[in-house]
Amino acid sequence: MTEITTTHADLLGRHKYVMPSWLSLYYDEPIEIVSGSGRRVTDGEGREYLDFFAGILTNMLGYGVPEVRDAIKAQADKGILHTSTLYLIRQQIELAEKIARLSGIPDAKVFFTSSGTEANEAALLLATQFRRSNQVLALRNSYHGRSFAAMSITGNRGWSASSLSPVHVSYVHSGYRYRSPFGHLPDAEFIRACADDLRDVITTMTSGDVACIIAEPIQGVGGFTVPPDGMFAAFKEILDEYGILYISDEVQTGWGRTGEHFWGIEAHGVVPDAMTFAKGLGNGTSIGGVVARAELMDCVNANSISTFGGNPLVTSAANATLDYVLSHDLQANAAKLGTMLIESIRGLQHQHSFIGDVRGKGLMIGVELVVPGSKTPDAAAAARMMELTKAAGLLVGKGGMNGNVLRIAPPLTLTEAEAAEGIAVLADAFAAIEGGSTT
Ligand code: PMP
Repeated sequence: MTEITTTHADLLGRHKYVMPSWLSLYYDEPIEIVSGSGRRVTDGEGREYLDFFAGILTNMLGYGVPEVRDAIKAQADKGILHTSTLYLIRQQIELAEKIARLSGIPDAKVFFTSSGTEANEAALLLATQFRRSNQVLALRNSYHGRSFAAMSITGNRGWSASSLSPVHVSYVHSGYRYRSPFGHLPDAEFIRACADDLRDVITTMTSGDVACIIAEPIQGVGGFTVPPDGMFAAFKEILDEYGILYISDEVQTGWGRTGEHFWGIEAHGVVPDAMTFAKGLGNGTSIGGVVARAELMDCVNANSISTFGGNPLVTSAANATLDYVLSHDLQANAAKLGTMLIESIRGLQHQHSFIGDVRGKGLMIGVELVVPGSKTPDAAAAARMMELTKAAGLLVGKGGMNGNVLRIAPPLTLTEAEAAEGIAVLADAFAAIEGGSTT
């Protein structure tokens, strides 16, 4: 008889046997998260962690939230988890009305999907149909998903397993200042240099009739890189000359996470033609979508359907999540605690020369680790930080083109005491790295 075991090591052995090799896991000894409450989770061997990564920014409210649980339960109790979009879905319509209103996009309509990848696919379909062009502009160091089109607009070799593409993509500078050739310039000149590059790309690499640009306001997987406010407004001015549409990928930056705004793109004073969203909206249930101007949304000239997109279960959870975000003003909480976190981490930067850059907005903070005295990425230091923080009971994320950026993105419900607790763990871990600890 097969012995039933619950250790992480056993589970890892089984994972390796039956799951793809390219589905990477965090930590030397990966963990299973089996329960959670508030901002804390417990692993399969009974260890508790404060969670500063929230299932990749997806558990936006945290864990065990009664309002979300009750909404899911109420829907399940009705006996209906799914009906398909062939029938009216009250919860979906209500959610679309809220998102359309919050989007700031005039005459907005919403299409729901089950993931961010599909949301971006849908947005590309709209833009390419509307403009009758398959040319797209994307940012270097971007991440937009795992389908062929989403991979092709992903400017990161580490996440682009194939060059097959339904769209023709040209890449422009992303505003990743720390590693930009224009990084030494003051804001206004930096923006001008990036905008000049955009014009140059349009005139030299495309036939002018480009469908759209797609851009993350703050790059997520790319290591929480933040362009100067207003950069995308400068881009938009040029794009408008050519009639090129603007799609903002708000999968990580939406719903108030950046603190100062509800959508990341608002920092640039740009109203995009479309926005895509996913991750946090369902607080862990699989929902994504695109919100766009009606004439853009309605331009598709054939049927299109996502069987699971916006089903009654996930839209019930998403309505509850969105209502919670708004009624508890979590955007203000993200602004307040994000400032506390980033200022504390900047304080630590002065003590440790291997902290090359600390950047971010709200509860979206990147800490780029480098070889002291240089800008050489130190992925090993980031890996050590992952182990040290885990050992001390804190989950953080990692990213960046070179795997050397720590990503800090707790649930938006984070408390001041929890922020202080996380900072203390980070401070100890940085000190251990400084002292040469390898564990
Ligand atoms: N866009 C961005 C900005 C993302 O961060 C991600 C996921 N990391 C996606 C799109 C793709 O979302 P999904 O994994 O749900 O397909």
